[in-house]
Amino acid sequence: MPANKKLLLLPGDGIGPEVMQEVTKVLEFFDKKRIASFDMSEGLVGGASIDATGLPITPDVVARAKGSDAVLFGAVGGPKWDKVGFDVRPEVAILTLRRELGLFANLRPATVLDPLIEASTLKPDVVRGLDIMIVREATGGIYFGEPRGIETLPDGQKRGINTEVYTTSEIERVARVAFDLARQRQGRVCSVEKANVMESGLLWRQTVTALGAAEYADVALSHMYADNCAMQLVRNPRQFDVIVTGNLFGDLLSDLASMCTGSLGMLPSATLGAPDSSGRRLSLYEPIHGSAPDIAGKGVANPLAQTFSLAMLLRYSFDMKEEAALVEKACLSVLEQGLRTPDIMQDGKTRVTTQEMGTAVMREL
Ligand code: ATP
Ligand code: MG
Repeated sequence: MPANKKLLLLPGDGIGPEVMQEVTKVLEFFDKKRIASFDMSEGLVGGASIDATGLPITPDVVARAKGSDAVLFGAVGGPKWDKVGFDVRPEVAILTLRRELGLFANLRPATVLDPLIEASTLKPDVVRGLDIMIVREATGGIYFGEPRGIETLPDGQKRGINTEVYTTSEIERVARVAFDLARQRQGRVCSVEKANVMESGLLWRQTVTALGAAEYADVALSHMYADNCAMQLVRNPRQFDVIVTGNLFGDLLSDLASMCTGSLGMLPSATLGAPDSSGRRLSLYEPIHGSAPDIAGKGVANPLAQTFSLAMLLRYSFDMKEEAALVEKACLSVLEQGLRTPDIMQDGKTRVTTQEMGTAVMREL
């Protein structure tokens, strides 16, 4: 059995704790079966932390996250905390963790599961078996580049400025994540920018090309302009394996790709940090959905996005690839059996609660 893995659970607000509870059962199962042993602890984030401490995240929780092998995050926010100051709103918790842990690579899979193929906004023939991984650079680019701001010109009108800045080392480290992932998948990377009109995009293309040639000759590398990529994702999304792109384009393209699946309540994500000298890499995993205050406490939340987030954690942070695949297969089985939470309900299927869905996944495991 592998050594103790340090895991920090941060359920947060709204449906966060409800879906986290179902995932905890899976972890306890692996522990009980002596497949892996986890050193698990829990912390407060978001509104739950504001209520207890006045802060969306405390230095203690940040320190515990830094000392963990991985963080499993639920969701934060809700109308109860709408009136708190901008700097202490619940969402600051996740922003703080990303910054403090140096989480620069955001992984957003877009996967179409056969039982839910009708949910896609695209035709079944276009998305059957879809399995894309978008790697978005998350700490640089136009959202953070200098100069930025709003200034007043001599004639009284104003000017808003943002700047896309990327250095070769920022590009290389995120491209490395994409190339490494491709090796575990279908061996293809498509790098996306606007090298035709942006210098930062041109440097992006040159840097990814050079790294690919020097270290990843076994991975098939292609390049695409971002506007064309948006079109291709809707026209023929299965042409893609791994897409690597900057912060802004990744923001847009990952939302676009998730709609190709049609099941937002089903999709996980990961955010990876840089490996240290011993190869240890801080990482955080969370569903792409939010705290869903409208359905919190009603027992109707779909726990599968959080469960798939755990599967990503097992695969990428704990090197438990078989167990990750088992968890994913268990989720697929319950869907094949026709079990559905209300958000993915279809005619002729069986409606279940959050807990019943979690229990069914456990039975399959
Ligand atoms: P955030 O800004 O935190 O992303 P949001 O308001 O954009 O939040 P969500 O909280 O994800 O979005 O909710 C969007 C809609 O999807 C809501 O109607 C919510 O009830 C529903 N929803 C989100 N997650 C789930 C889930 N796991 N199960 C069922 N319904 C969900
Ligand atoms: Mg949202």
